[in-house]
Amino acid sequence: MSESVREDMSFDELNINDNILRGVYAYGFEKPSAIQQKSIPTIIEGKDVIAQAQSGTGKTGAFSIGMLCRIDPELKKTQSIIILPTHELANQVLLVIKEISSYANITNMLVVGKTSVQQCIRDLDNNPQIIVGTPGRILDMIQSKYLITENINTLILDEADEILSFGFKDTIYEILQFINKNTQICLFSATLPDEILEITDKFMNNPEKVLVKKEQL
Ligand code: ADP
Repeated sequence: MSESVREDMSFDELNINDNILRGVYAYGFEKPSAIQQKSIPTIIEGKDVIAQAQSGTGKTGAFSIGMLCRIDPELKKTQSIIILPTHELANQVLLVIKEISSYANITNMLVVGKTSVQQCIRDLDNNPQIIVGTPGRILDMIQSKYLITENINTLILDEADEILSFGFKDTIYEILQFINKNTQICLFSATLPDEILEITDKFMNNPEKVLVKKEQL
């Protein structure tokens, strides 16, 4: 994989599936940002990634595009989970995923707290291919076996500094117990304090570290 970031880089060079690529352009993205250039090909390859860049540099776009390319549209099972610390962030990410996958036949669902559990259970029965949500409800649904983790091949932790901080850490660890050992794990964050980097050793497999210092879209 090329490590260099180029001004003239095109999304066409990043191994993105054609139907996802169409969605990227239709969404209005023209050129990949630095974090997108550096992390999309690695996510598509299936490797674990730890990516750090300031907010507003295109991290959401990066993991959404990469993760979408990993989905097998023919496999009508849950294949990817994206975990965020808040309902609002989960909603925003889901909207981006819907836009970028608008030319692909890929299903998705929001799994967050303070919504109807019964409705959540009914919707999970359709085996949405992508789940975007918050830690507590996701763990509840996994433990009660409504969210099936058997076919999960990508797990994304966004705002990883918050997700792995005191309040959420145990919930994330519990979720990880239900995830296959060979599941790709991608961690995105604006900041990565040492104590978080240290605990990633426990559950990540030789992650590729991607750091972008300064760039604003
Ligand atoms: P982050 O997750 O790092 O905060 P986002 O992915 O939300 O950043 O991107 C910040 C803003 O820039 C959003 O409005 C998004 O739509 C836009 N954006 C992201 N990537 C690109 C791109 N390659 N080209 C143009 N705009 C982009």
